[in-house]
Amino acid sequence: MRKKLFIPGPTEVRDEVLEAMGHYMIGHRSGDFSALFDRIIPKVQETLYTKNKIFLSSSSSTGLMEASVRNCASKKVLNCMCGAFSDRWYGITQSCDIPCDPLQVEWGKAVKPEMIDKALSTGQYDAITFVHNETSTGVMNPLEEVAEVMRKYPDVMFLVDAVSSMVGVKIEVDKLGIDVILAGVQKAWALPPGLALAAVSQRAIDKSREAKGKGYYFDFVVMLEKYYDKSQTTTTPSLPHFFALDVQLDRILKEGLDNRFQRHADMANYVRDWARQYFSMFSEPGYESQTVSCMNNTRGISVSDLNKELGNRGFTISNGYGKLKEKAFRIATMGDLTLEEIKELIDNINDILGL
Ligand SMILES: *Cc1c(COP(=O)(O)O)cnc(C)c1O
Repeated sequence: MRKKLFIPGPTEVRDEVLEAMGHYMIGHRSGDFSALFDRIIPKVQETLYTKNKIFLSSSSSTGLMEASVRNCASKKVLNCMCGAFSDRWYGITQSCDIPCDPLQVEWGKAVKPEMIDKALSTGQYDAITFVHNETSTGVMNPLEEVAEVMRKYPDVMFLVDAVSSMVGVKIEVDKLGIDVILAGVQKAWALPPGLALAAVSQRAIDKSREAKGKGYYFDFVVMLEKYYDKSQTTTTPSLPHFFALDVQLDRILKEGLDNRFQRHADMANYVRDWARQYFSMFSEPGYESQTVSCMNNTRGISVSDLNKELGNRGFTISNGYGKLKEKAFRIATMGDLTLEEIKELIDNINDILGL
C-alpha cells in the first residue's frame, strides 16, 4: 500500500513529476540534452536568487558535501556541528585528509554567529561547513546572521548544506555571499532521490584550481568550465532526473516562490502549535525548522507502534534520528505537501493516540 511520506526525505513526489522520470532517453552529448540543460539552469538560479553556476550532480547530497571540501579547502576547515548531518561533514573532511576542527554544540541547539566569529578570528581557517537546516534535530541555524559574520572573512569559503531547506525556505544566495550551497532533490525539491545540485561561486571555482587530490568526478573546474560552457555535464548524468527537474521547476515557479515558502511556514507552524499542546519541541526556541519538526516524546508513546498504525492508514512519519530514537519523533513539512494534508495527518495521530 502506498503511504504518504511525512518523513524528511525522500518526500512525497507528485504523479506528474514521477511520470516525467519515464521520458525516453536522449544522448547526453546531443543538442536535445543541451537544450534541456539550458532550460533547467536559469530556473534553478531563479529559485536560489543567484547568478552562480549550478553543479548538477548524479549523486546524493553527501557527494556534494565531500566535493565542496575537496575543491574549496586547503588550509583548514571549521566544521560547525549540531546534529547527525553536520557531524557527518566533519567525518567527511577528516576522511579526505583535510585538516579540520569541530565547532560543536549540543544536539537540539543552534550554532550561533558569535561562536563562528570567535573561531575564524584565529585566522587558521580557509573554509567553514555550515548546515542550514539540521534534519536530525529540527534546528534551523541562523544563516543570515552567520552570512553577516562571513563578510568579515572574505578569504574563508562559506560552504552551506541546505539539503532539507532549499526551495522550502527563502535563501538569497548571492546576497548572503554563499560560495557553495548544496542540496539533494529528494527533500524540499520533492523529486525522487539520485540527483544533487549546488550553486558554486566564481571564488570557489578559482579556489578549486589550486586544490590538490580533489579527484575528477566532482571537480568544479572540469564541470563548471569545460563542460558547463558547452551546456553539458562531465559524465553521463541521471537523465530521468533532468526531465523531472525541468517539470518540477515549472511547477515551483508556477506556484510562486513566496507562496511556496509561505506554505512551508504555514505547515510548520501548524505542526509546532500541535506539538506544543501535546508534546514539546526538541529544538532550541527561536531556531525551529520550517521544513521538519522534531518533538520530544514527553508522553512516552511507542513511536514505532504509532507509525505502524499510521502506516495502516496510509501515512508515514519519522522516528527520532539515531540516538534520539523513541525519545523524539519528526514530522516533515516539506516539498509539495499541503496544509490540508498535514491537518489530515495530525487528525489521524490524535485519533490513534486518543488526544
Ligand atoms: C538528508 C540530508 C543529507 C544527506 O543526504 P543524501 O542525499 O542522503 O546524501 C545531508 N544533510 C542534510 C541536512 C540532510 O537532511
